[in-house]
Amino acid sequence: MPRPSATIDLERLKTLLAGVNSFGFDPATGGYNRPGFSGADLDCRTWFSAQMQADGLKVWSDGALNLFGRFGPPDGPCIMAGSHLDTVVNGGAFDGALGVCVALECVRAMKDAGLEPDRAIEVVATSEEEGRFGGMLGSQAITGEVTAGWIDGAVDADGIRLSTAMAASGLEPCHILDAARPAGSIAAFLELHVEQGPVLEQERLPIGIAEEVSGVCYLELTLTGIANHSGTTPMHLRSDAFAGLAELAGTVPELIQEHGTDQSRITIGHVELSPNQPHTIPGRAVFSVILRDTCEEVMRALKSGFVERAAAVAGRHGLSLETTERSWLAPVRLDADIAARLSELADAHGLPARRMPSGAGHDAQTLQGFCPAGLIFVPSRAGISHAPEEHSDWEDIVQGANLMLQALIDLSGASR
Ligand SMILES: [Zn+2]
Repeated sequence: MPRPSATIDLERLKTLLAGVNSFGFDPATGGYNRPGFSGADLDCRTWFSAQMQADGLKVWSDGALNLFGRFGPPDGPCIMAGSHLDTVVNGGAFDGALGVCVALECVRAMKDAGLEPDRAIEVVATSEEEGRFGGMLGSQAITGEVTAGWIDGAVDADGIRLSTAMAASGLEPCHILDAARPAGSIAAFLELHVEQGPVLEQERLPIGIAEEVSGVCYLELTLTGIANHSGTTPMHLRSDAFAGLAELAGTVPELIQEHGTDQSRITIGHVELSPNQPHTIPGRAVFSVILRDTCEEVMRALKSGFVERAAAVAGRHGLSLETTERSWLAPVRLDADIAARLSELADAHGLPARRMPSGAGHDAQTLQGFCPAGLIFVPSRAGISHAPEEHSDWEDIVQGANLMLQALIDLSGASR
């Protein structure tokens, strides 16, 4: 009797994800807490490693704590598939973890169907993707982008140094540098991830195939005026930093219309007013501006347009302006051939999919600098992520997972 063709076992996938999510669950909030290098993150990795060992994979961790499980030939370049196991504080059940579990389920499905890859498949659970220490430590260590200087300076929002967090778990920070993979050792990288946006749900499509990932510019602006009495200072004699900030924020839609695209996003997400008192005119506003687009030229135009507007507003309100660029992450175009192949496979297997950009950052964009990379999205309910309410429907997930399975069979040259 011929063996059945390879297909995702949804119940087995659900059980695997539930196993991952038994680590770091907070019953009080319903959220998950596995920040990179936390106890729950480490315990989860140990557990996942045992799962892969039980499946007969060759399992190891590198110096950055990326976890690998290799299926197929012991030597030669691999097709790597996976995502991250860490979460933000009070994160959701699907972001990252789903992609790791889907990659392992694909290997299990191939084994069930008696498929042997010609090129090895490596399941990866990258470390510290959520940027507790800034950046995407795990995937950047794999591609060799992490430097000793960066490791030395890396600190989280609570002032805990990366080296301290690693040493507390018996890990040597300098070993991160050993995680760099030799050129050519990864033939392709594939990641399945939740969309974290509303597009697929709105279009009632189970699968997105990402073509590009938006770049991110992080600016910090300071408007400085004069803090003064809210009763005695006439309105026309004020240098009110908040009034300036409010006027500036109001110009964002027009700025995007003038210089942006439908992929442009500008967010003023963090504001510190001082003295921040009800009866005092704000003398100072320090605020963050996160600016995104899939085209770097557009990002540059938006940045200079924003700073010009800030200067004009400052002039009108008698404020001084200071601008600091905290970081600039260029947009990334993912591999066109892989995206095309994913589309073909989706068509061939009756899996409804659309091409789309990614507004959020992912390991796939880091890997794209090292090898061809592809990114598959499944819908996020109401577009919500990084919160306990994060949810994806299993009937969508199983279709995205089956596309990943077909892609891995295809790219690894698997046969019976
Ligand atoms: Zn993620």
